[in-house]
Amino acid sequence: MQVVQKIEEVRAIRWQAAGATWGLIPTMGALHEGHLALVRQARAENNKVGVSIFVNPKQFNRRDDLLKYPRHLGLDLEMLREAGVDLVWTPAEDEVYPLDFQTYVDVEHMAKPLEGAARPGHFRGVATVVAKLFNVFQPQRAYFGQKDAQQVAVIQQMVRDLAFNLEVVVCPTVRESDGLAMSSRNQRLSAQERMASAVIFRALMKAEELWRTGWRDGDTLRLAIETVLKTEPLARIDYISAADPHTLNEIQGKTARALLSVAVYIGAVRLIDNIVLG
Ligand code: AMP
Repeated sequence: MQVVQKIEEVRAIRWQAAGATWGLIPTMGALHEGHLALVRQARAENNKVGVSIFVNPKQFNRRDDLLKYPRHLGLDLEMLREAGVDLVWTPAEDEVYPLDFQTYVDVEHMAKPLEGAARPGHFRGVATVVAKLFNVFQPQRAYFGQKDAQQVAVIQQMVRDLAFNLEVVVCPTVRESDGLAMSSRNQRLSAQERMASAVIFRALMKAEELWRTGWRDGDTLRLAIETVLKTEPLARIDYISAADPHTLNEIQGKTARALLSVAVYIGAVRLIDNIVLG
């Protein structure tokens, strides 16, 4: 496994294996089983696997969140070596954003609601860094987690709009045994908060149960989630959404498909999760 910092080094290694198919997994490090599931799928589908580890400052709208974001590069590299990764890019900030950097990717509609509304500028940062990663690695496939459903929608839109020559592969959300979606931010939960955070998946499962018994309207699904979340005193709701999975518009009335997503503070830690119905 080669670990490099410079764009030129990534390019050299990428094009030494010009005939190989490359799969790329963009990450912010503090890796867990969710990331490794993406790596394993990429390993199975490509000759070469590249991973980027970069805590992208431009996608954080709060400085304290950026500063507290967990970082343990040594452990990450061990995990990636074991998983059979070929190339890891760990750029310094000024390698990705030189001093005179001034070009951004704005995905207009898809980036507006949900995380985009709650975290102004977030998806501008995501789309910009992912576009740069695509240009540096030029992979045939790029792997993203369903855990960040709107991120997937934004990137798929960008890939279509700007004709990036690659396939976006979406992998299912990997969960802890109590249903909590794995996340680097889970490390910041106290033991008590960690227990409380299971309420998020319970709330989504309650809505799924209603869906299975025939309830199809947005208001009922949103209310079901809210009711369960409110049973947990440590949980503070940021948003609850039942949206069309393709447009991300909130569902008014009945629907055949729904993306249910939530953002919830457990103590000071903001967690997101989602499921797709139908
Ligand atoms: P991050 O390091 O949080 O930027 O995540 C890097 C990639 O891993 C993104 O595509 C995430 O959606 C994905 N990911 C993070 N957590 C999970 C999870 N629990 N299950 C599946 N994919 C995940």
